Amino acid sequence: MRALILSDIHANLEALEAVLAAAEGQYDEIWNLGDLVGYGGSPNQVVERIRPLQSLVVRGNHDRVCCGLTSANGFNPVARTAALWTREALSETNLDWLKSLPQGPVEPDTAGILCAHGSPLDEDKYILSIRDAWGPLQQMSTRVTFFGHTHIQGGFSQHGHQWHELHPAIGRPRPSTSTRDQGQPRSSAASWTLKLEAGTRHLINPGSVGQPRDFDWRAAFAIFTAEAPPADATADDAAPAEFSVTFHRVPYDLVSSQGRILMAGLPERLAARLREGR
Ligand code: ZN
Repeated sequence: MRALILSDIHANLEALEAVLAAAEGQYDEIWNLGDLVGYGGSPNQVVERIRPLQSLVVRGNHDRVCCGLTSANGFNPVARTAALWTREALSETNLDWLKSLPQGPVEPDTAGILCAHGSPLDEDKYILSIRDAWGPLQQMSTRVTFFGHTHIQGGFSQHGHQWHELHPAIGRPRPSTSTRDQGQPRSSAASWTLKLEAGTRHLINPGSVGQPRDFDWRAAFAIFTAEAPPADATADDAAPAEFSVTFHRVPYDLVSSQGRILMAGLPERLAARLREGR
């Protein structure tokens, strides 16, 4: 079983298309960790593109605010402006669908896995450090919890008393030499695979498809693979399924995505930050 793990698409259609093209043929299911909309200029297009493809989705805090389930009062002014614009731009059908999304954590069919937007203990909480990861890793009985919300690819693991931060060994593209640089950056795709040892608990963030904040502008995603133990293993000596995660970065049509944000009249900062990856 192979799952394409997506998170924080944030209405960036160009990034989503690049991810779907790069991952084609490499997955059986799509699990979406939320924040499909908010910030970007293509909320309807993103919802309509991804909705029929995914087999699991949890809501994100931006989905919740953009569809009107909760107010935008807790958001910073730029996020609030984008959320209110998104609420106006979304079709009735897409608004209703966003309202119906389940709160995480949600369990896929694969045993030992959970999917959440923020912390599995609180959908609004950011897991940015070992300190943040400690509670969820202690309290979750699952081998792997996928989460998003921070827009930072990587994660955390715990084996007994050992705690680790996971940083995918993917080099960042060379930073721009000028803050006034315009046009499409030239970077190539990259990936890195991590085997998830049995007996270790993991919190894994696939990174953000549509608004990365780890100083890499390329769209981020991950592919999770679960290989069943050999069929001849009896119940007594059955080995746990072998899990691995491949982290990916792919370039996308950044300039078009920025153009949609500017044409929509959304704050310029939302376009600029896509190039900076933060
Ligand atoms: Zn987000």
